[in-house]
Amino acid sequence: MNETECKAALFLDRDGVINHDAGYIHKIADFRFIDGIFDLCATARDLDYKLIVVTNQSGIGRGFYTEEDFHQLTAWMREAFITAGVPLDAVYYCPFHPDGIGPYRKKSPLRKPAPGMLLQAREELAVDLGRSVLIGDKESDIEAAHNACLPLAIRFSNKRDIRSKADRIFSDHAEVARFLTCFTNRQKEVGGP
Ligand SMILES: [Mg+2]
Repeated sequence: MNETECKAALFLDRDGVINHDAGYIHKIADFRFIDGIFDLCATARDLDYKLIVVTNQSGIGRGFYTEEDFHQLTAWMREAFITAGVPLDAVYYCPFHPDGIGPYRKKSPLRKPAPGMLLQAREELAVDLGRSVLIGDKESDIEAAHNACLPLAIRFSNKRDIRSKADRIFSDHAEVARFLTCFTNRQKEVGGP
């Protein structure tokens, strides 16, 4: 695989980044998009990033809702991204949890902070992790980005005083979009033609 086939990705956590996190969201009626998420994705697409969702869904493992519930909500969410002109390239999820029930009860290499979902995207979608970016609202997202050796991990939070290993903390997707543009242009300059 040559370098031109490998694209960078913007990895998006779901709850707290794409939609407001009211806890174990699994119904369309409860899913509220965060302002600016579609514009951020449009900026990322213009900058040639793939758009990939990576979401822990322990609510499945804990028995709060089913994988079918998750897939139905995901299909609806993906339609909304298509309608907004920014189709998602992929949605990865981890239903497993050490406190889960039945077959879902396990420690999974896919569950963030482990980097499994990002590594899976690298294999399946030819993502160049060395130029990719993650945005998440929890420290486990940031740790997953670091564990996958991403050059930029952004924490999305409106708390300014949080302790975080993130490279940047933003509370507004328009700020993320501006920073992503600067970061990407700078990387291109460093990387040369
Ligand atoms: Mg989250």
